[in-house]
Amino acid sequence: PHQLAPLLNTNLTTRKMRTVLVTGAAQGIGRCIASKLASKGFQVAIADLPHQESKADEVLKELATQSKKFGAKDPIFVPVDVSKKQSVFDAVDKVASHYGAFDVMINNAGITSVSKILSATEDQLDQLSKINIGGVLFGIQAAAKKFVELNRKGDYTPQTVGNTQKKLTGKIINCCSIAGNQAFPILGLYSASKFAVKGLSQAAAKELAPLGITVNAYAPGIVLTPMWDFIDSELSKVNGLPIGQNLRNAIENTALKRGEEPEDVAGLVAFLASEDSDFITGQNIAVDGGISYV
Ligand code: NAD
Repeated sequence: PHQLAPLLNTNLTTRKMRTVLVTGAAQGIGRCIASKLASKGFQVAIADLPHQESKADEVLKELATQSKKFGAKDPIFVPVDVSKKQSVFDAVDKVASHYGAFDVMINNAGITSVSKILSATEDQLDQLSKINIGGVLFGIQAAAKKFVELNRKGDYTPQTVGNTQKKLTGKIINCCSIAGNQAFPILGLYSASKFAVKGLSQAAAKELAPLGITVNAYAPGIVLTPMWDFIDSELSKVNGLPIGQNLRNAIENTALKRGEEPEDVAGLVAFLASEDSDFITGQNIAVDGGISYV
């Protein structure tokens, strides 16, 4: 073996079953990610706003079938408001104490807001900042703290760690968007919030690497979830196109000429959560069927 061989053992595979928390998982992309990870043998906890509990219960039933196959502990729902720091820290605490482990944080929850730059309101700015940017920031902070508590017994500042940790202690995966790579008209504030997600992911990847934590983002395209129904109808109000036309136009600008399914996104996220991506950090990976920007 090469003399540096001990330094190359970087993966999390030594632990048998990995535990993951997915935020915004009562519906849409988050729900599909949770389900995909359960089918791959992860112990999955889902988080969403308290009023989403009945939808979350449906998701739990689906996950429980998978977790039984792998002998995983039953999935749990943790109510959270990702725009509130303490709420996110509490959610992560609950997951870690329920499973006695915590390995992957998926900061998926997010909202959109549709308006032209000149008519964007303070309220829209507040909402997008708190949920899309705050949610990712607090998710990174809470996960990093927990990964280190579990793996290093409370020693969690880079300054006190000294040498770079060669063994991974956890993974953080953030939801960006194609709108975080290039801004879309009438989605200016939303685009700005997703540019921020990309920035936070890059900075966190660099800051948390010494703690053995990787941070990446996924950038979906035009995904057929309730979010796009909302975007389509709001865009209609602003640009006067008939309902459904903005969605059709967006799909027409996609090389693969179909709307994206949540399943398409879940495949990438499962890769980022797996040991196959252990040497990837600081990336924002597009999964968009080849979007042409307009
Ligand atoms: P969705 O609206 O179907 O689901 C979002 C979920 O997040 C909901 O269950 C909602 O209750 C939850 N949520 C909202 N605010 C929350 C808060 N403060 N705390 C906790 N949970 C909260 O949307 P989706 O399409 O599944 O979107 C998921 C992510 O994907 C978002 O970050 C979104 O920006 C991103 N995204 C979506 C698309 C798309 O085309 N649908 C494209 C690119 C990126």
